[in-house]
Amino acid sequence: MHTSISRLLQLTPLISALCLTGLPATASAASDRLADSVIDSVLEGMEAQSPINIRSHNTYFGQLSPLHFNLSSSTDLSVINNGSPSAESTIRANIDPGEGSLTVDGKTYSLAQFHFHEPSEHLENNKAAPMEMHLVFANADNLVVVGRLVNEGSFNSALGPIFSDLPETITETKSIDNFNLNSLLPDRMETFRYTGSLTTPPFTEGVQWITFAQPMEMSATQLQAFETLFPDGNARPVQPLNGRIILTDLPGFVSAMPEPETYAMLLAGLGLVSFVASRRQRLKANEAWFPV
Ligand SMILES: [Zn+2]
Repeated sequence: MHTSISRLLQLTPLISALCLTGLPATASAASDRLADSVIDSVLEGMEAQSPINIRSHNTYFGQLSPLHFNLSSSTDLSVINNGSPSAESTIRANIDPGEGSLTVDGKTYSLAQFHFHEPSEHLENNKAAPMEMHLVFANADNLVVVGRLVNEGSFNSALGPIFSDLPETITETKSIDNFNLNSLLPDRMETFRYTGSLTTPPFTEGVQWITFAQPMEMSATQLQAFETLFPDGNARPVQPLNGRIILTDLPGFVSAMPEPETYAMLLAGLGLVSFVASRRQRLKANEAWFPV
């Protein structure tokens, strides 16, 4: 319920416009129905949502634009809890302006914050990792979220100061000094990229997603500290791909199996397009659960 209300908040100007058209009281029921149908149609238009299931047979291999990170090796973090155990909340490290940036495709974005989801929001070939980190970069026009899956393994010393003393309520702020933001980046820079949305309200679309192929590790104790605050997790379920294309420069990930669209092209001359179309509809309807 809360999610729906939050999603509708972004439509407030639209709803206000509908309410200010000066309709008489007798027309209010019709006006309400009109407003409902407009809201439904706008929400239905949100078809490029995140997270997604990144699979070998829906991902294309190719050369991608280089990523130029310019991150402080000694910065101060303000670590907050914005509402655990709510699934739409997280532990977030806020970063002062000017401490980090990412330049890609000729555009530069400033690092605003990083935060965590448990379990991971993005899946790789149907599999979730225990956790996922999101670094949120922004400029005046757009957002770029750089994600990295987190597996259980070695103690993560870089994140040690954060996860050994997580803020337990929204009233606590933990200050971390001399944090090296570069410690969050992998050795290898291969990524998965696609266009999606925020994974929390208002689920705004047009967000550029860049997920590192190389995961990071945290110890079971570190993961448990987060789970204690979010016993039901804080990951949004995967959303339908709806024809979007995922790109990667990770060798060996993409399978040789062609996309349904490719099948459609191959089969068009054989008069089998309608069969493929019905198959695609079923794929879309079952996107979250469809096995590889
Ligand atoms: Zn996130």
